[in-house]
Amino acid sequence: MEFLPLAGRNRFSTTLGSTIYLTPKRYDNYYSGSPSIRTTGLVIHEKVHVRQYQEDWLFQLKYIFSRSARLNYEIEAYAEQIKFSIEHYPSRKAKYIKQKAKTLSSCPYLLCMSYESVHKRLDAKVDELVKASNEHIT
Ligand SMILES: [Zn+2]
Repeated sequence: MEFLPLAGRNRFSTTLGSTIYLTPKRYDNYYSGSPSIRTTGLVIHEKVHVRQYQEDWLFQLKYIFSRSARLNYEIEAYAEQIKFSIEHYPSRKAKYIKQKAKTLSSCPYLLCMSYESVHKRLDAKVDELVKASNEHIT
């Protein structure tokens, strides 16, 4: 896995195959020695896509051409990101889930799905991950 600053793209970080492209601001923050919770959360999200790509060589095709596959991939990535963020800000759980469900269900994300169904699935996935990691610790 490698990290590259994404010249000319200041708004989005993204992942192509095993390479994570960060906006210059995020890249600098990530390598600053003390990356913010937000940057680390974003990298955790993108790392999930790297794992998805490594586990399934059809990942990119499915991501592009199947809305339901894309939703599954994003729910997993956002749930990991939220799980990490609420380890630092537990009181923001509901806010984060709302925010990300809104992003995911929106048409710019090419999903155009109902907010309620995305919210329900994301909420359930976050609980599943939190539960799994608690079981792991004890
Ligand atoms: Zn994503």
